[in-house]
Amino acid sequence: IHLDVMDGHFVPNLTFGAPIIKCLKKNVTDDVILDVHLMVSKPSQWIDDIADAGGSAFTFHIEVEENIEELIQSVRSKGMRVGIALKPGTPVTSVLPYVDKIDIVLIMTVEPGFGGQSFMADMLPKVAHLRNQYPHLDIMVDGGIGPTNIDAIAEAGANLIVAGTSVFKAPDAAVPIALLRK
Ligand code: ZN
Repeated sequence: IHLDVMDGHFVPNLTFGAPIIKCLKKNVTDDVILDVHLMVSKPSQWIDDIADAGGSAFTFHIEVEENIEELIQSVRSKGMRVGIALKPGTPVTSVLPYVDKIDIVLIMTVEPGFGGQSFMADMLPKVAHLRNQYPHLDIMVDGGIGPTNIDAIAEAGANLIVAGTSVFKAPDAAVPIALLRK
C-alpha cells in the first residue's frame, strides 16, 4: 500500500500523517508493506513518527532543503527502506550520487500533489537511464499509471508500480490490478 503524505507546503494539498498510518497498520496483516511517500518540506521531522506508525519504506523528495545524506542515515537507523523521489522537472542525474546508499528511486510521472493527472511519458527516459546503470535497483513510478501505459513503463525498466485512480475508479479493481501484474 503506497501512502501519499502531503503537508500543504511542499505540495499545495493536504492528505494525512502518521496517526492515520498507525490506524491502517492495525487493520492490515503483517505481510502488507506500508510504503510511505512523503511530499513534505521537512521529511526529517516525520521519520520517527512514520517508523513508530509501522512504515516499511520512507521515500522523501530530493528537492527538499535538508541534508540528503543525513536523511538517508536517519531513515536507515529506524529500520525502514530508504527511497528518494524526483519531481518531473528534476533531472535524473541529481539522484545518482545517492543511488548506492538507498533502496528505491521514485520517478514521479505527474506533478506531485493531486490524484487523477495524466501520465507524463517523457519521464520514461529517466527510468531507462537508471535501469541501464543499476540492474538491481528498485525503480518506482507514481502518477497516472494504468493498463493503457503499463507496457511502456515495464519496458523502460520500472519494477514498482504505483496505481491510484486506475484501480480505485475501476468498476472492478481486480481487473486493472491483474493487467498491471501481467
Ligand atoms: Zn506517491
